[in-house]
Amino acid sequence: MTNVTHLECAACGAIYPAGQLRNLCTVCGKPLLVRYDLARASATLTRESLATRRADMWRYREVMPVDDDANIVSLGEGWTPLLHARRLGTSLGMERLLIKDESLNPTQSFKARGMSAAVSMARELGVRKLAAPSAGNAAGALAAYAASAGIDAYLFMPRDTPRANIVECRQTGARVTVIDGLITDCGAEVARRKDAEGWFDVSTLKEPYRVEGKKTLGYELAEQLGWRLPDVILYPTGGGTGLIGMWKAFDEMESMGLIGSKRPRMVTVQAAGCAPIVRAFESGMRHADEFANAATVASGLRVPKAIGDFLILDALRASGGTAVAVTDDELLAAVGEIGRLEGLFVAPEGAACLPAIRMLLERGELERDEEVVLFNTGAGIKYVDVMGK
Ligand SMILES: *Cc1c(COP(=O)(O)O)cnc(C)c1O
Repeated sequence: MTNVTHLECAACGAIYPAGQLRNLCTVCGKPLLVRYDLARASATLTRESLATRRADMWRYREVMPVDDDANIVSLGEGWTPLLHARRLGTSLGMERLLIKDESLNPTQSFKARGMSAAVSMARELGVRKLAAPSAGNAAGALAAYAASAGIDAYLFMPRDTPRANIVECRQTGARVTVIDGLITDCGAEVARRKDAEGWFDVSTLKEPYRVEGKKTLGYELAEQLGWRLPDVILYPTGGGTGLIGMWKAFDEMESMGLIGSKRPRMVTVQAAGCAPIVRAFESGMRHADEFANAATVASGLRVPKAIGDFLILDALRASGGTAVAVTDDELLAAVGEIGRLEGLFVAPEGAACLPAIRMLLERGELERDEEVVLFNTGAGIKYVDVMGK
């Protein structure tokens, strides 16, 4: 059933056979990406055939990595609403501001997409124990999908992770270890123990399949817009999986004749207290230095060092996009502003896109008549302990 041809290193191009458990490239230590026979996929993945398919991300079955349908672990992820933000748009003088509302996913964030794909592949490849570091939503999603698959999940989370994330993981059967440190310290703990414990590491971009789930964001945007792409996409960026995935999806769709060569300008939004990609973008670097003393209430953005940094930065530059940082005060105020104008209780990460839009309008890097998609990546309700009463 699968159209996967091989795995390919995103940095050095080394090629690996499909159907084997793999983490990073064994030649250069960078992320592996899944490649497909897109000519074959395009024979059945057509605009018309999609009209009658299931309303979740597995509707794009031909470009998903699982071989046997029986291994798909799904809780209904994807096919989330693309909302016209009329009142928020009006307040900014913009007519075509859209919000892709990823808070409607299982476990209330877009991490569900990545984990549905990764856990499905883990099941297909016979994995019994999965481990990951997480600053919040990735843990919740992994716990849920692992539970559904009957696979054990071992999660390592910083002590300042929102309480809801920790509670939900425990309630969905994961083994949770809380660490006094950052997400990078949690990652180091997984790396140190995984061989002895027999864990498969599903850290962001350290295995090839979470990107495949997140890339469906790109397919969905195009399909929901009638097979075209917006002018600008604002993406709250931590590890960057969704941005990298969308950029991959656009190329796949073009190869299959589903869209043309036009690309949106991709904009990375980060918190001022943890903005490694913004710094690297501004100084013209292809790799980002680790951001010292990373701190922000937007826990999904608290990623001081992203292994896919060069893929994010390449996509921003190739698209003519940019990277901007906003303060915690700004992004927290934006939660309430979006809430009052649109009736959406968004995650602080998604809210960060609003002050970013204002900044780009001011700098003349965004026009008011452009079609802009703001990604609300999660649900505000998970963050009540950092929002006061
Ligand atoms: C993980 C997360 C992000 C960052 O996503 P990446 O793809 O890792 O950049 C943004 N928002 C929320 C709510 C998240 O959970």
